[in-house]
Amino acid sequence: MNYELSDAHKGLQAEMGNFCRAEIAPGSAIFDEAPPDEAAARMRKNLKKLAGTGFLNLLLGEDLLGSCVVGEELARVCPSTFLTAMTSAIAFGRGVKRFGTNTQQERHLPLLAAGDGIGAFACTEAEAGSDLAGMQTAAERRNGHWILNGEKDLVTNAPLADFFLVFAWTHREAGLERGTTLFLIEREASGVTIGSPLATMGLRGAPTAGIRLENCTVTDEAILGGTAGEGWGRMQDLLEEIKLAISVLCVGIGMACMEESTSHAKTKKAFGKPIGLFEGVGAKLATMYMFNDIGRMMICRAACAIEQRDPESPVLSSCAKLFTSEGVGQIADLAMQVHGGHGYLKGAAVERLYRDARFAELAYGTSEMQRAFIARESLDRFRAA
Ligand SMILES: Cc1cc2nc3c(=O)[nH]c(=O)nc-3n(C[C@H](O)[C@H](O)[C@H](O)COP(=O)(O)OP(=O)(O)OC[C@H]3O[C@@H](n4cnc5c(N)ncnc54)[C@H](O)[C@@H]3O)c2cc1C
Repeated sequence: MNYELSDAHKGLQAEMGNFCRAEIAPGSAIFDEAPPDEAAARMRKNLKKLAGTGFLNLLLGEDLLGSCVVGEELARVCPSTFLTAMTSAIAFGRGVKRFGTNTQQERHLPLLAAGDGIGAFACTEAEAGSDLAGMQTAAERRNGHWILNGEKDLVTNAPLADFFLVFAWTHREAGLERGTTLFLIEREASGVTIGSPLATMGLRGAPTAGIRLENCTVTDEAILGGTAGEGWGRMQDLLEEIKLAISVLCVGIGMACMEESTSHAKTKKAFGKPIGLFEGVGAKLATMYMFNDIGRMMICRAACAIEQRDPESPVLSSCAKLFTSEGVGQIADLAMQVHGGHGYLKGAAVERLYRDARFAELAYGTSEMQRAFIARESLDRFRAA
């Protein structure tokens, strides 16, 4: 077992860190208050800049560990930009890369990698979040076409996206495993209406909205991979990589909290000395460090397991997401405590990071659903023994 990153990964990490600090960090606080149009224009610019570094191409490629290492550098300076980039290149893009037909790949992947096209992943609905069987969106087969009707909720990137992966019933009676399909829907397709951007608590630069599909008519060519009924399995495979990406987001936010807190602990004085020298403050920094370091190790372990097609990988990516999302909640809380009352003020970096961190336990499988999944897998394992 080797805990050292390869020289290639260390090089990428250093390059990306320098680029993000120079090009992305200066605008990250602006996203929090910018009007939607300005924030959207800034985000498009950020994606173009990232495309220039090869980052989006890396997310679309096969070097999963490399994309985690490099992604942390981005999440550390701008969690919103990370979420938009990962939604486009991983939640949408990896879906096309892994399961798309040649035509689908040729159309979408170059646009995503160049930052000229943005993707989104539309699964959640008002009555279908943790329990996707409650989904209402359905595609009906009529005269050789598929007619989609339904409403998707809380879709990251919807206000910006050029194309969507949309999860829908194609044969409700067959159940989720055989009766659902992922469709590639273009923003300009007839019958698609994008809602107004929703005001979120954090990650305000990664715009979120609902989507309405009203008699949206497509051909078989819009089915991801070309075959109906395979949506559930494909989504489960994709979710492994999405959970890993959310874990990277958490560790990035955790690093930013630590940076803010250590620098504050060194400079802020009380009772005649820097507050970092008080045991109560130092202990908080130690706990933050521990959560982040273990979280990063869990990410590396899950990334290697996914790369090696290890059957344990779905559980390991759930464990990483569960640990890092709860961990970053604690880290952000400790960072606020280290900053005292000034951390609570609007405009303080830790106040924004605290709000950004809260997302991770909710999206792409809540903590409760991760625990339920891990427990179910463990029960099956021990029953077999
Ligand atoms: C900012 C943001 C961006 C998002 N982006 C996307 C996106 O791009 N695409 C997308 O498809 N979705 C997206 N989501 C939606 C997200 O994935 C869902 O919110 C999440 O899956 C939870 O679903 P829900 O909100 O309907 O909550 P519910 O499923 O209603 O859950 C409410 C509470 O009940 C608990 N609960 C439910 N069932 C159980 C159970 N069986 N056992 C124990 N507890 C249970 C949950 O854990 C939770 O605590 C986004 C959400 C947010 C906040």
